[in-house]
Amino acid sequence: MRIPILLFLLCMLASCVEDESVDTGRPQGFQSDEALFPTVTPELRPFYIAFEEEAAERGLEINLTQEEVTGNIVQLGNMGVLGVCVRSDEEPNRVAVDQEVWSQASQELKELIVFHELGHCILDREHLDDDENGVCVSIMNSGLSGCEISLEDETTREEYLDELFFN
Ligand SMILES: [Zn+2]
Repeated sequence: MRIPILLFLLCMLASCVEDESVDTGRPQGFQSDEALFPTVTPELRPFYIAFEEEAAERGLEINLTQEEVTGNIVQLGNMGVLGVCVRSDEEPNRVAVDQEVWSQASQELKELIVFHELGHCILDREHLDDDENGVCVSIMNSGLSGCEISLEDETTREEYLDELFFN
């Protein structure tokens, strides 16, 4: 099944549940999410951890704390904008997610929003609206091109994550 994308998102099937077997170099079980990401609002933290773990699985060492990433859920007040990456002197890598969107989003969509914005902030990715037969090749699509994301299974999610980290 394909899900038409409205303004840039849709659903990833596989959830972002943390895989505890992945070694991110952190002492699992000893540090709380609060300790790991004090400047990230609690609801976003699991997705930050998942981002680091997905990177680690691909041999990339990404430490979002070191990158001084912050994260908030705010009223962006702009219809259709799900999240943003904002860079400033005080907050070099700030991710903000729209409150209303967040309150209604599935786990899969939440992960997609956070990963998309971290793609901008941390991976220096720009938008990529290419498609193959109408299917977006990247979760870094702008949402304006009309391509669709098909995320029915873990394989598709893995492919999108490979594209995210390696493109
Ligand atoms: Zn974007």
